[in-house]
Amino acid sequence: MFSAVTSSGKTVYLMKERYAATEASELRKTKFFCPVCREQLDVKIGSLKAPHFAHKQNKSERMLTYSGAICKKHTAKA
Ligand SMILES: [Zn+2]
Repeated sequence: MFSAVTSSGKTVYLMKERYAATEASELRKTKFFCPVCREQLDVKIGSLKAPHFAHKQNKSERMLTYSGAICKKHTAKA
């Protein structure tokens, strides 16, 4: 997905197709959380796909079930 919440509660949108290296490294330093399930998200900024947020993969089976149920829509897109 393209929106996430920071630890200070601010909503951030990844609207640009491309980010400069300095912007990208700033984004990677920031902690982002899913607005739906509050899990921490990874920032994906690469040359192949449009920048987006993605749920982390290294979580317990229980968390997977939880977020799968809550976040089916936006994880499918990410
Ligand atoms: Zn989520």
